[in-house]
Amino acid sequence: MVYAFDISLEVEEKHYNDFTAGKGSLPEFFEKLLEGVSGPLLEPGSVAGGSHPLQGFVADLKRVSRADGRVRISLNIDAVWEHNVGTFYNNYLDDSFDALTERGWSFNIIEDKFPDAITYEASKDGCTVRISVQKRDLKYPQNKKSYLPQVDYGRCVFCGFCVDACPFYALEMTPDVELSSISRQGLVYNPFMLAGKKVSTNPPSTNPIDAIYGWLRAKLGQ
Ligand code: SF4
Repeated sequence: MVYAFDISLEVEEKHYNDFTAGKGSLPEFFEKLLEGVSGPLLEPGSVAGGSHPLQGFVADLKRVSRADGRVRISLNIDAVWEHNVGTFYNNYLDDSFDALTERGWSFNIIEDKFPDAITYEASKDGCTVRISVQKRDLKYPQNKKSYLPQVDYGRCVFCGFCVDACPFYALEMTPDVELSSISRQGLVYNPFMLAGKKVSTNPPSTNPIDAIYGWLRAKLGQ
């Protein structure tokens, strides 16, 4: 199985309205929380479990849903890759919660379904925020440890050994040189990012079967 997680916040509508007006305790809460969850993108070396590709958080506060006087805010679009809610907490929430505790916020765990889900409640000055981390099962039953390969183009020397070594022709060298990124983490490609670039050439053939396989693969665009 490959697991990834979603994080969402829930607040009372009146506090959310205060927040959109720049009032109340929520602005500092969002500021510190978003600093924490985007930290691994800026300093990937600080993240435990480095075999997981990181996905960028999109703090789009327009993606809210309202029901029964409460507002739910989804903080990410792409799922965040982690082994369980414990590593999610260590990598993304720990620093934010510490910083917010110093500013008078208190935190409680109100539901713990380790390793799949956890819900925290944070409060300060009568304002309460629920922070939910939920597993999004990406359903790869053959991947039991939820490890994924990745190519770090900040370290890759384009030797091509991985292309030669892969028995499934999953990789190929291409003439694409446009790999620049504004962040170090943006150079780390997970399988989904690599798959975004379609096959442009046949893999090198060492025997007729390989040649047929390569031709088929290029034909099917896989
Ligand atoms: S081409 Fe493949 S094997 Fe060579 S450095 Fe890059 S990722 Fe590693």
